[in-house]
Amino acid sequence: MSIEEQYRTRAKELLSGGAVKMVIGYSKGSNASRRRPLFISSPDDVDRLVLDDACIQNLSGYLVSEGLLSDEKRVAVFLRPEGIRAINILAAESQLDAEQIVVFGFDVIGNEVQALKVIHVEEFSDVINSIKERAPEAAEEELFERIEKMSPKERFSFWQEEFSKCIKCYACRQACPMCYCRRCIVDSNQPQWVNTSSHTLGNFEWNIVRAFHLSGRCVECGNCDRACPVNIPLRLINHRMAEEVLGAFDHFAGTSKTQEPVLASFKKDDSETFIL
Ligand code: SF4
Ligand code: SF4
Repeated sequence: MSIEEQYRTRAKELLSGGAVKMVIGYSKGSNASRRRPLFISSPDDVDRLVLDDACIQNLSGYLVSEGLLSDEKRVAVFLRPEGIRAINILAAESQLDAEQIVVFGFDVIGNEVQALKVIHVEEFSDVINSIKERAPEAAEEELFERIEKMSPKERFSFWQEEFSKCIKCYACRQACPMCYCRRCIVDSNQPQWVNTSSHTLGNFEWNIVRAFHLSGRCVECGNCDRACPVNIPLRLINHRMAEEVLGAFDHFAGTSKTQEPVLASFKKDDSETFIL
């Protein structure tokens, strides 16, 4: 039986028995390489679930939709390891109770979909630790290395050019599971902290503020740069920040639901290299 069939069977059992009120997974999209989020609450709909190598979107952000978990019932969700890291962060930041989440874990290695057998968030620590060293995809790695070799001036110009394309649509924010605030600071106009029009300074402010906001929290799922209509390689900024946080604080985001947020906690042996 394929993993897709196994997970459909499990979804049917959980929904029929009332163990979960909803399953969040993937359905067919507009073409063979696109998949759409699917929300099902009836066992009759499980045949619409799809699981293949095109299922790349991190679905964890839907769990913090207003009111979804407030009745304390359980929800099942299809998640790759990045999504499970996101659940840990959301739990650590008191946005959800991980006990309410049933994970249909899977990973895609090459083109092959592999099942992650366990179902409770805390049982995935080995999986999460194993992806710490995972190399970025080839195309991203090539660009990342090119940026790393640039001088600070060249790098600044590179990002200035990339950010000049930004149209302030905020699709990156909407797609990010870590951007769960009901009202984002950029939507506030009294006072207006970040300029809403699309120009060099405002675009820099937005993208750099967002990169810092995601430091130690980004799980590198790539939802943001897939959502970006002008193809800014946003994940590379967050990947670079993640490297800094790992080096400076030995912090890999999302390893457990009790992990302290790195920028909201303090340890006596923090290196404090910013203090001269
Ligand atoms: S910043 Fe991008 S890569 Fe990081 S968690 Fe958010 S959507 Fe995923
Ligand atoms: S998705 Fe892209 S264009 Fe839209 S706000 Fe984010 S960076 Fe700018």
